[in-house]
Amino acid sequence: MINHYVPTSLNDALKYLSTHDCYIMSGGTDLMVQKHVSSLVLPRFDKDVLYVGELKELQYIKEDKDGNILIGAETKYADLLLSPIVPEIYKTVIKEIASPNIRNMATMVGNIGNASPAGDSLVPLILNDAEVVLKSVNGERVLKVSEYILGVKKTARKNDEIIVEIRLLKQNLRYLYRKVGARKAESITKVSCLVGYQIKEKKLIDFRVAFGSVGVTIIRNLEIENKYKNIEVKDLDVDRVISDYYQLVTPIDDQRSNKEYRHKVAMNLLRKFLLELKGGIDE
Ligand SMILES: Cc1cc2nc3c(=O)[nH]c(=O)nc-3n(C[C@H](O)[C@H](O)[C@H](O)COP(=O)(O)OP(=O)(O)OC[C@H]3O[C@@H](n4cnc5c(N)ncnc54)[C@H](O)[C@@H]3O)c2cc1C
Repeated sequence: MINHYVPTSLNDALKYLSTHDCYIMSGGTDLMVQKHVSSLVLPRFDKDVLYVGELKELQYIKEDKDGNILIGAETKYADLLLSPIVPEIYKTVIKEIASPNIRNMATMVGNIGNASPAGDSLVPLILNDAEVVLKSVNGERVLKVSEYILGVKKTARKNDEIIVEIRLLKQNLRYLYRKVGARKAESITKVSCLVGYQIKEKKLIDFRVAFGSVGVTIIRNLEIENKYKNIEVKDLDVDRVISDYYQLVTPIDDQRSNKEYRHKVAMNLLRKFLLELKGGIDE
């Protein structure tokens, strides 16, 4: 028989996890869809469910002394949008996730846990080197989101662990972002591109690129980024950057789009953003 358990505290949840192989459910907006059978039939789970979505001690947004933003894992997207301290780039991305009703239930931790290449919040999280804090009865460990996600629906979580916090490390970047979907709301991404950069005395002192929905995970490549750091912005060779990313972007055909379209749009977005970046030199 399948059971669900609603813990009264994080400690209670950790104890349950230490003795049960179960699904962790936050907002349930991915899990309930994945376990859906047909209309008028309850979703069918094949193991127990630990429902942590209402754990108040994991619902907070605060700033530490270094200016990093710490988000309790069970904080809803809607609350992130209302917070004055959540960086604008996350809000820009979240505003295009699903629709207000889903954002009232869903969490960023669920987007991370679902480990889909189309997970929209993963794009800024990975570009900005954000971290997750995992806890179990045996202790705590901190991983970058890029280390936590191992592949499609594959994560580094051990059975007895739960993500308790997401850490948005302080950044001084400017961003250019675009999500392409079939329509404005409730639209899973066909392709997205985010460029982060910092210019000082006409030099590109930081340069980062991330693509969503065009590979098995979010695409980011530090080697390419490092090649273009500390060069004069006017010397940034747009065609060369595009050729560097050309082979890395490896979309697939699915019900939402085809690989040729996705690849072309990814490259077009990158070109557009690089030209914009070069246009805004004087800082
Ligand atoms: C109509 C609709 C539209 C959508 N549109 C978008 C969209 O535009 N962009 C997008 O990216 N997504 C979209 N989604 C998918 C979904 O809403 C998001 O991925 C959301 O962030 C999932 O959060 P959740 O809290 O509901 O996750 P859940 O369904 O509760 O969990 C998802 C996964 O994360 C794991 N998990 C949950 N909490 C934890 C935890 N604390 N520690 C470790 N693992 C955990 C779960 O075990 C599960 O594997 C949409 C979904 C629907 C139904």
